[in-house]
Amino acid sequence: MKAILVIMDGLGDRPIKEFGGKTPLEYAKTPNLDKLAARGINGIMDTVAPGITPGSDTAHLSIFGLDPHKHYHGRGPIEACGAGVELRHGDIAFRANMGTVDESMTVIDRRAGRIGSTVELCKQLDGTKIDGVEIILKPSAWYRAALILRGKGISDKVTGNDSKKTGARIQEVTPLDGSKEAKKTATVLNKLTKLSYERLHDLEMNKERMENGELPANVLLFRSGGQYVPVPSLKERYGMKCACIGTGLYRGMGAFLKMDLIDVPGATGRYDSDFSAKTKKALEISDDYDFIFIHMKPTDSAAEDGNPELKVQMVERMDKAMGELLDFHGLVISTADHTTPCELKKHSYEPVPIIMAGPGILKDDVKKFGERSCSKGGIHRIRGLDLMPIIANHMGFSKLYGA
Ligand code: ZN
Repeated sequence: MKAILVIMDGLGDRPIKEFGGKTPLEYAKTPNLDKLAARGINGIMDTVAPGITPGSDTAHLSIFGLDPHKHYHGRGPIEACGAGVELRHGDIAFRANMGTVDESMTVIDRRAGRIGSTVELCKQLDGTKIDGVEIILKPSAWYRAALILRGKGISDKVTGNDSKKTGARIQEVTPLDGSKEAKKTATVLNKLTKLSYERLHDLEMNKERMENGELPANVLLFRSGGQYVPVPSLKERYGMKCACIGTGLYRGMGAFLKMDLIDVPGATGRYDSDFSAKTKKALEISDDYDFIFIHMKPTDSAAEDGNPELKVQMVERMDKAMGELLDFHGLVISTADHTTPCELKKHSYEPVPIIMAGPGILKDDVKKFGERSCSKGGIHRIRGLDLMPIIANHMGFSKLYGA
């Protein structure tokens, strides 16, 4: 049996007064998700554990069956995988942006006026060696890039140079422990900050940008460093052939787990993203894959913007896209990575609703996809780490335990 797992980011929420105490998901019109809920078995899921507020990265690891307490080493390595870097065990990876500083190294803009590409800029630094450490810099979407340090005697126990503030001087990288590896890494990174300004500021493209009244992309900003330690993929654990349809971190998560990355035109990760293009693409490739992971982002973005109406709109558009999957002859799992209440504008600890629908599923009495309705279903309350074993087993990819 095949499966499609759809994760709607930050879908869970809290009661909204203007919605008569309903959550955005409960308030939204979701005929397709409700059909799936009615056909399936439902429940709620603490993606990491009860009472823990998960990051999107730790939540996804957990959902894919990897205990984040053991396998999580920062967001940097996961995003670097998404940028197409073949990481080696021990590499230190950071999330990076091209930004703008003035001559006193005061940060004017962290995204260099949201510059559309960093391809040319990354070339200026990619492959450089500083104190014997190789600098790998690969472009990612828009103003983003992935920075990797490769070499002996380096550590991820360092800060970044990006304090996320503008109007302040660029942050000096400092070691986070007393090791000589952390000290060396901090020295290399501080040299890299300087070098990035020297190599980028006078580039022809930056001169042109300034002539056009645009901000020059003249400094490399980086943060969220982590060491790359390989994890067992779903293919290695279960023998499933997997595909990932997602952008940004989620594309990185697919790459980190050695899934095939499927690009879909119109999938932007933003409010204008074409969710139906994603579910249509999943159906299209479903003959070639056992397990397809689809990620949809903007439910989380709307909640982080504190906009429940927009979250409802996003849910309704995602529901429309789910309509494509109603005739899929396999398992459809619909859930979220965490709760993001509009009133908090950030992640919170509450469990998320989950549906599993498909052949052989012992359906329950739940008729509607929602935080409270799903809590009455047959899955009851599980942890994220429980999900993959259940999915894999229902798909027929697990062996008998015992005899
Ligand atoms: Zn998330």
